[in-house]
Amino acid sequence: MNCPRCDAALKKEMREDVTIDVCPKCAGVWLDRGELDHIATAMRDAQRSREDLVDFAFGMLELFTHRW
Ligand SMILES: [Zn+2]
Repeated sequence: MNCPRCDAALKKEMREDVTIDVCPKCAGVWLDRGELDHIATAMRDAQRSREDLVDFAFGMLELFTHRW
């Protein structure tokens, strides 16, 4: 699977117990609708430190849902 934005090969990564596709070239994160819901649920349920939440929020800035 290649990045829809820059066509680089996507890399599988685990985030919040969900496998997501990360682009090493443009730093885009691609996931389907179900995966996004799973992450949102995990965020609500998780007991996180404030620092972790800030890190995750910055990560979300590069988050996109694919429409393939
Ligand atoms: Zn890309």
